[in-house]
Amino acid sequence: MEEITIQENIKAVENIIATECQKAGRKPEDVTLIAVSKTKPVEMLMEAYEYGCRDFGENKVQELLDKYEVMPKDIRWHMIGHLQRNKVKYIVDKVALIHSVDSLRLAEEISKEAIKKNVCVNILIEVNVANEETKFGITCEEAKHLVQDIAKLPNICVKGLMTIAPFVENAEKNRPIFSKLKKISVDIMDENIDNITMEILSMGMTGDYAVAVSEGATCVRVGTGIFGVRQYMP
Ligand SMILES: *Cc1c(COP(=O)(O)O)cnc(C)c1O
Repeated sequence: MEEITIQENIKAVENIIATECQKAGRKPEDVTLIAVSKTKPVEMLMEAYEYGCRDFGENKVQELLDKYEVMPKDIRWHMIGHLQRNKVKYIVDKVALIHSVDSLRLAEEISKEAIKKNVCVNILIEVNVANEETKFGITCEEAKHLVQDIAKLPNICVKGLMTIAPFVENAEKNRPIFSKLKKISVDIMDENIDNITMEILSMGMTGDYAVAVSEGATCVRVGTGIFGVRQYMP
């Protein structure tokens, strides 16, 4: 039963992404679906893998490492959660993209560890567009300066922006959040800063990814919509 459910869920999400792309005049292959697998067991991730998923998102370093060890090596791992500087060294050579960089100090640590491991780490800047106190991320005003500062660091490469929109009943309420992030990315692109691109816009989760795609998301992060509700251990 389980395997059918996960694979059908992914299919349904892909269909909605395709529909939104069509409406917006975009190509579905320009949107990457990241299966957010935090708290879920490897068996469930493997169902998604067998369907064809190669992009998985985790928000805790240890859990990402545990899954990295046992899962196939052609998976692209996305670090989507808040990252502590002392844990950077464990993941720099294992992740395809870190979505949650929100300070120069964190970027400097990533750069330092990337040099040691002789890799180049792709990152996104996390912007707290809605200015929610409970969330990480920098303000819209700070984004451009942070990108300019990070662009000077070796072995780290800014690929775009990420935001976590507020939890809302009606996804349409988040449309201005997504369009604002898109606007910030265009503004930064217009600065023509060396060594950075704004090709990735990581926005949209289970409740609002359709709206995010219609506003230009190139990465959507879907957990519950694929794997079902999460149960957190006390
Ligand atoms: C958990 C999480 C998601 C997925 O949330 P769902 O609502 O389950 O789709 C997306 N992005 C981030 C940063 C998360 O921590």
